[in-house]
Amino acid sequence: MRVNTVKDIDIRDKRVLMRVDYNVPLDRDTGAVTDDTRLRATIPTIRYLQEQGAKIILCSHLGRPDGMVVDRLRLGPIAERLSDLLGQPVKQLPDCIGARVAQAVRAVGASEIVLLENLRFHPEEEANDPEFARELASLADIYVNDAFGTAHRAHASTAGVAAYLPAVAGFLMDKEVSVMGTALERPNRPFAAVIGGAKISSKIAVLDNLMSKVEVLVIGGGMANTFLKAQGYDIGSSLVEEDQVEYAKELLHKAWEKGVKRLLPMDVVIADKIDKDANVRTVPVNDIPSGWSIVDIGPDTVEEFASQLRSCLTIIWNGPMGIFEIPAFANGSIELATVISEISGVTIVGGGETVALVTEMGLEDKFTHVSTGGGASLEFLEGKELPGVAALMKK
Ligand code: ADP
Ligand code: MG
Repeated sequence: MRVNTVKDIDIRDKRVLMRVDYNVPLDRDTGAVTDDTRLRATIPTIRYLQEQGAKIILCSHLGRPDGMVVDRLRLGPIAERLSDLLGQPVKQLPDCIGARVAQAVRAVGASEIVLLENLRFHPEEEANDPEFARELASLADIYVNDAFGTAHRAHASTAGVAAYLPAVAGFLMDKEVSVMGTALERPNRPFAAVIGGAKISSKIAVLDNLMSKVEVLVIGGGMANTFLKAQGYDIGSSLVEEDQVEYAKELLHKAWEKGVKRLLPMDVVIADKIDKDANVRTVPVNDIPSGWSIVDIGPDTVEEFASQLRSCLTIIWNGPMGIFEIPAFANGSIELATVISEISGVTIVGGGETVALVTEMGLEDKFTHVSTGGGASLEFLEGKELPGVAALMKK
């Protein structure tokens, strides 16, 4: 699937309303931005618009103010950080609609940038109110969406506004949609999905969708426990979803019927408690003592997963292999991240925790694509059409 981008439309000297995802963490005490990854991710599109002499009106939500003005969720600190990153002033406006805003926007010159106030201070934003969307649209000539992270929400600024303006993707949005879209629609094969994380229940739709597309399905992390249980192993005190054991059995059976190679852990790291001071051992999956919990995949499993993945030309990875937040339980995730990052095919990483791990390791640039959207990339991998993507003009 391809959507039109800022390069497919005449932007010269136009007023551009650009939806970004600046929902970033702020320091509790100082209110300063503590992680500006999402700001930096939008800079290529901003720079391109500036080269075209566009007048740039940025808009975003921040946190969950639930339709009310919440002072600590104002976008002032974000405008400040963006100014620093761009080396030019980014003016913060007091609201996102209304006469004062319209007036301020009319004063924006070529290549200048303003940032509207938190969209979610108005309940109409999340309600996708058409009148609110029309007011937002009235500020500009063209709508650019670079907020993949909110593309799974049908809100006024992510979907509604596209009814009133020519709507195109920014570079970030375009990359998300084209890399993941191509992988799902016509992947280079063999195609593998590596799925981990805590629970099956949060990823059933992803498992179902990917299962029908891949040659290799690798399952690790806490969710593998339920699969191991479905295969009859005694998994001690490990995290398990009893109500998903039947589903796990069915999925394994379906994979077998379809000839999908499915890989589960063969050895695991176990701990006597979920704590950094726990006693830790590595055992085969058929030798887990009662009272102990699976906290990571073992070294033989990493080797087996790696040897299967090395022959794949497309890999989508979502979900860590263990409780990587605790260093003693992080090896499996770290080693698998390294293995996948070294594979020369198309490698895609999605999921909040998985992306955090890869970023912490400084490996972002070693993958074809690291998705910026947690919930949005999950829904994309489920095969759903995202409202924010659907609203853009198709190629
Ligand atoms: P993502 O955000 O990448 O999609 P999830 O949210 O599905 O990933 O899951 C991430 C969480 O899974 C991590 O916080 C991690 O601690 C947890 N996890 C991984 N393996 C296990 C395990 N064996 N037991 C319990 N929790 C686990
Ligand atoms: Mg998560």
